[in-house]
Amino acid sequence: MSNRRFSALDKALAHTTQKAPDYPSRITGLYGADVFGDRVMRDYLPEDVFKAVAGHKNKAEPIDRKIADQVASAMKSWALSKGATHYCHWFMPLNGATAEKHDAFFTPALDNQSMEMFGGAQLVLQEPDASSLPSGGLRNTFEARGYTAWDPSSPAFIVDNTLCIPTIFIAYTGESLDFKMPLLKSISVLDKVAVEVCQMFDKSIEQVFPTLGWEQEYFLVDEALFHARPDLVMTGRTLLGHIPAKGQQMEDHYFGAIPSRVSSFMKAFELEAWKLGIPVKTRHNEVAPNQYELAPVYEEANIAVDHNQLVMGIMDRVARKHRFRVLFHEKPFAGVNGSGKHNNYSLATNTGKNLLSPGHTPKTNLLFLTFFVNIIKAVHEHAELLRAVIASAGNDHRLGANEAPPAIVSIFIGSQLTGILDDLEKMVKEKKMSPDEKTELKLNIGKIPRLIIDNTDRNRTSPLAFTGNKFEFRAVGSSANCGPSLIVLNTILADSLKIFKKQVDKAMDQGVDKDEAIFRTLRRFIMESRNILFEGNGYGEEWVREAEKRGLSNISNTPDALAAYISDKTKSLFVETGVFSERELVARWEIRHENYAKVIQIESRSLADLAGNHIIPTAIRYQNILVENVRGLKEILPPEQFKRQSELQVYVIGKISDHISSIRQYVKEMIEKRKEANALETPEHRSAFYCREVLPYFDKIRYHVDKLEVLIDDELWTLPKYRELLFVK
Ligand code: ADP
Ligand code: MG
Repeated sequence: MSNRRFSALDKALAHTTQKAPDYPSRITGLYGADVFGDRVMRDYLPEDVFKAVAGHKNKAEPIDRKIADQVASAMKSWALSKGATHYCHWFMPLNGATAEKHDAFFTPALDNQSMEMFGGAQLVLQEPDASSLPSGGLRNTFEARGYTAWDPSSPAFIVDNTLCIPTIFIAYTGESLDFKMPLLKSISVLDKVAVEVCQMFDKSIEQVFPTLGWEQEYFLVDEALFHARPDLVMTGRTLLGHIPAKGQQMEDHYFGAIPSRVSSFMKAFELEAWKLGIPVKTRHNEVAPNQYELAPVYEEANIAVDHNQLVMGIMDRVARKHRFRVLFHEKPFAGVNGSGKHNNYSLATNTGKNLLSPGHTPKTNLLFLTFFVNIIKAVHEHAELLRAVIASAGNDHRLGANEAPPAIVSIFIGSQLTGILDDLEKMVKEKKMSPDEKTELKLNIGKIPRLIIDNTDRNRTSPLAFTGNKFEFRAVGSSANCGPSLIVLNTILADSLKIFKKQVDKAMDQGVDKDEAIFRTLRRFIMESRNILFEGNGYGEEWVREAEKRGLSNISNTPDALAAYISDKTKSLFVETGVFSERELVARWEIRHENYAKVIQIESRSLADLAGNHIIPTAIRYQNILVENVRGLKEILPPEQFKRQSELQVYVIGKISDHISSIRQYVKEMIEKRKEANALETPEHRSAFYCREVLPYFDKIRYHVDKLEVLIDDELWTLPKYRELLFVK
């Protein structure tokens, strides 16, 4: 009898290292070669058209049609010269993937001739029949029209002979159905108020935009082994599997030498990324076996989000060529670390300044402090929304699991900056400061840059850490689109800056001088948001108790976390800033519940299938062998000897029997619960029920399956084991 696991292992071990691509002698020659970026546009477009496109960055409104016609014509010539045959609108619907629908440039004409067609109309607006993408009730299927509209702030690119045009995706009513449109809106809302605040310090600042540097963690699994694990194929994670004798405890994988098969894969996808102008820079082994990370140089946030989505797609494609599968799931394997996507976030200006980087004068440092404190205040005010935005079935396994930030949102800023905030709080009073006091305070503020230099962040347990010149949001899941977290960060910061500006203006109206008005407002903000600052160990039990005392919420699962998405506070935040209408917000909330319920449903079905069709039959087969063996021994062994061996053997047979019965019982109950869940009317009730009533069976079933795995003859076990999935490279 053939065993699927062994034939998969044979195949996996036979997979050899694919040849790594030849790098050109200089990457700069190839960097951005497949992108219709500024360099190409300058070549292909008249000066005024180029300027119009360049000036239309991060706007959620359409560009002038005449401009679009000229850009389309240039894009077409460029794309055809690069061998492109098709074009598509590339967008990010709410299912979390990217979507594209290809059309050929080639258009037949009546007289048996044909021509390559692509004009402003095709560039600017398309109507894909995308009625099967999630809309949370924003589109009725009988009026399913959805439009994709060109986003001139993100450059078009060529993948696989197709010109891809980044677009937003909206319903026919104008409501957004994607992650890009609200991101652009949030960027522009933030720009407006941040510029107003900056101008209190520096009149030359006319534009502020968020920057994002993501760090992407992932696992690689050999393709043959992947296919022999239906749970990986169906759900992206293992639902079963005994922890191997050796996991990550030796800490020998982190930053270790990259295996040649893996390095060859990395080189191949990096080359693809560079051609698309994605500034991929860093690669290394992560903590868990077969876990890796890559990080690019940071970019303007809208483009960085596009690039992260693109890279995930490229990695998936290239991995297949190298006979790997990439797992972006947040927790593919129990017992070793899961994967996150750290979002490094900062703000840049048209003057080339990083607003979260302290400068050389007290004035620039006060500007720094203003943004620094406003972010703290914003996070304090909307911590639950931040928790909600990163919530997903996958990320629930990570957050608070002592390997990733806890589910409690807090900020780490380091002892030096804590000291500065303490000083500010102590020294400033709600009364006029003496000139001496002011000088002392300014002197203190002047010292910031020197203080921060050695204050690099070593606290890996914090969900949000200040790391010298940026905040690092570490709680984002590895499979997530970066868009939603950025939308929240931009919007809550914009909201906080608006309140800040109002309070400063009010004090100034009452005759307080500008610096002092700023000091006083910052002091108030610091006092109001102290609670969110935490410098200790985020993994510790004490923090859970301390956070509770402070009144910080600690929400362990997605359905509960999502409540903050549609709280009155969140609604007024988004509606007032114009980033989401109430309908759009509720639609997103509904889609997230729906998605959660579906993920647990699929996992539960896969688990039941594995238990019933793989585990139990294997267990019975082995049990029968043992039973036969006992019968045979009885015939030939002397009674004393028979007694000794058979007693233990019968004990094992009984153990197997207990495990089989428990599995059968739990699977039966789980299926009953699933039926109840599916009968519920609304997505939020379904997701809550799946979470509370169905999910708990996973661990119960797994416990018995994993026990069987160690009892049963290795030769009979059909599913690749952890030691194979994690250590075959
Ligand atoms: P590490 O966190 O591993 O010590 P760095 O601090 O150098 O490494 O950078 C980590 C990530 O932060 C990189 O992806 C980088 O692009 C990003 N980053 C650096 N500066 C900024 C910035 N101003 N805005 C956004 N991201 C940034
Ligand atoms: Mg980092």
